[in-house]
Amino acid sequence: MRGQLHLVKCRCVLSQFKKTNNPPAHQFIVFSVIDDNDAVVPKHAQCNNCGLIHKVTDICTSDILAGKENSVSILGIEDVKLSLPPNLVAILERHNVELPVWEQAQFIIENKAWGEFLILAKEEEKGIKQGKYVRIMSESFFKIDTFNRTDIATPG
Ligand SMILES: [Zn+2]
Repeated sequence: MRGQLHLVKCRCVLSQFKKTNNPPAHQFIVFSVIDDNDAVVPKHAQCNNCGLIHKVTDICTSDILAGKENSVSILGIEDVKLSLPPNLVAILERHNVELPVWEQAQFIIENKAWGEFLILAKEEEKGIKQGKYVRIMSESFFKIDTFNRTDIATPG
């Protein structure tokens, strides 16, 4: 089993694009688990712009569940926090990361995937990606470091 962050397309448009012709459909990041047969485990995810619920069926693929504006089958950050070590919670809170990163953290801890990392912050300037990540070495050892260019693979 492994986890992956990927982008899912919604039917909404970010407000800054609303007045443009052919505005791009909004995309939001989802964390999905991929099982040992390379199949994506289906899950529900909520658009971070319009709040619509999507059923995520594959990488970058989802169906919008019409008329569902909230779902009891969606985890929130507060739910995930409870299953994480306090020091890791402090790191993620300090960097104000979004729900998919919290879910990724939970997956790494639950599967003891020591050595995996989470992106805490990133920016791209003149084609160079730089930012900060935390590598999860064990249940209680977290190593924060910086990256630039292609040091490590970055989502998105
Ligand atoms: Zn949306």
